[in-house]
Amino acid sequence: MSFKEKGLLVVLSGPSGVGKGTVCRTLRERGTQLNYSISATTRKPREGEIDGVHYFFKTREQFQKMIEQEKLLEWAEYVGNCYGTPVDYVHKMIESGQDVILEIEVQGALQVKKKFPEALFIFLAPPNLDELKSRIIGRGTETAELIESRMNVAKSEMELMQNYNYVVENDQVQKACDRIEAIVLAEHCRVDRL
Ligand code: 5GP
Repeated sequence: MSFKEKGLLVVLSGPSGVGKGTVCRTLRERGTQLNYSISATTRKPREGEIDGVHYFFKTREQFQKMIEQEKLLEWAEYVGNCYGTPVDYVHKMIESGQDVILEIEVQGALQVKKKFPEALFIFLAPPNLDELKSRIIGRGTETAELIESRMNVAKSEMELMQNYNYVVENDQVQKACDRIEAIVLAEHCRVDRL
């Protein structure tokens, strides 16, 4: 049985520190058939981050130009920096029948929902907010002030969960990946996608 179909746009979102990056990295290591969009950001690279691999690092001016030239599918300001998804890569993959996953924060995910309501929206949730805080602290990359801002954003983000198709609790990374793979597989089998 072969059905010609467009690729699936998978939006994996949820509060900062919930483990979106780790989950995406693990899916990649498992060889899950997903293409990973690389975002543009005005944030400065953290140690070990490489331009064009982890992010496309941009100045505010460069980022502004991308917005004006409509090169971003969505973008959001998050704790003082801008983050956005380059639209060309997503279109190219989807049109050629390949699945793409976006790992983005909640405001951006809501913008994607307006443009691509048929995308698959997965909310990655922490077991609880205390656990989320200790994960952000454990990362050791943020100042106390930034940790507080990220926690405040996280609390309001949790309330937007009902805009998503699925919620996956990230209690254990491998389990969360199993669930995401199962959701993507099920989505491909939906009669209304054929
Ligand atoms: P970090 O600074 O920790 O790399 O990322 C901060 C937040 O920005 C995370 O929640 C991450 O998922 C989100 N983010 C990364 N890329 C994008 C993007 O292209 N668009 C949006 N809206 N958020 C993004």
